[in-house]
Amino acid sequence: SAAEPILSVNNIEVVYDDVILVLRGVSLDVPAGGIVTLLGPNGAGKSTTLKAISGLLRTENGLVTRGEVRFMGEVITNLDPEKIVRRGIFQVMEGRRIIEDMTVIENLRLGAFTRRDGAPAVRRDLEMVLDYFPRLRERTGLAGYLSGGEQQMLAIGRAMMARPKLILLDEPSMGLSPLLVKEVFSIIRSLNQALGITLLVVEQNARMALGAASYGYILESGKVVLDGPADQMMSNEDVKEFYLGGG
Ligand code: ATP
Repeated sequence: SAAEPILSVNNIEVVYDDVILVLRGVSLDVPAGGIVTLLGPNGAGKSTTLKAISGLLRTENGLVTRGEVRFMGEVITNLDPEKIVRRGIFQVMEGRRIIEDMTVIENLRLGAFTRRDGAPAVRRDLEMVLDYFPRLRERTGLAGYLSGGEQQMLAIGRAMMARPKLILLDEPSMGLSPLLVKEVFSIIRSLNQALGITLLVVEQNARMALGAASYGYILESGKVVLDGPADQMMSNEDVKEFYLGGG
């Protein structure tokens, strides 16, 4: 059913370099087909949570030392990141991380690197992504020359090329103008609605994120301090004061 969590993070503890305890028992659920947002101040552990799910934590000498991450019912805690991509989870890192000295098409093809369903399927999806982002189709030069907004779209397009079930998005609004933030969030909603991709979105822009999501969590100092349906979060007095600029 639609309420079934596709992802379930149960009481995870994360440690970097064997000693730095960053997550102190974080639990969250993401329903299949939903959009969930993870909010919180700088340094709360939001990116760390995403990396614990995608396995990218391991590339930074981090480890889940307690609790578990389950995806589609199976435990994926501390698996190799490539294995996690193959299971259908793709993380779009903060700061976009596109390859600046490769073309748009080359960057998009990188997203498909774990796929085994053959070149024609990948070519079809490349066309689908370029239809989604017409502006990227016009950019035939190196990705380094793209604007910030275009780079964010390229990073999302690259995630789509992996045909993921779940996309983990780390601060998609970072560095973008208000207009582009709106555009990126409308793309996020259409990825969810038209393609059925489930999303877990880390954001500083709580208003946009809660506008797109059905459920939200607030992380502070490595712990979930508040969670609830997005509309309830938006009318919560503490959330208003600390995350929505008092509005
Ligand atoms: P931001 O919005 O600033 O990215 P965040 O909520 O995403 O904040 P994290 O990036 O997860 O927070 O960082 C949480 C804590 O973990 C911080 O204190 C940070 O210094 C620490 N940390 C993050 N990455 C590492 C690492 N590779 N090694 C050691 N400590 C780290």
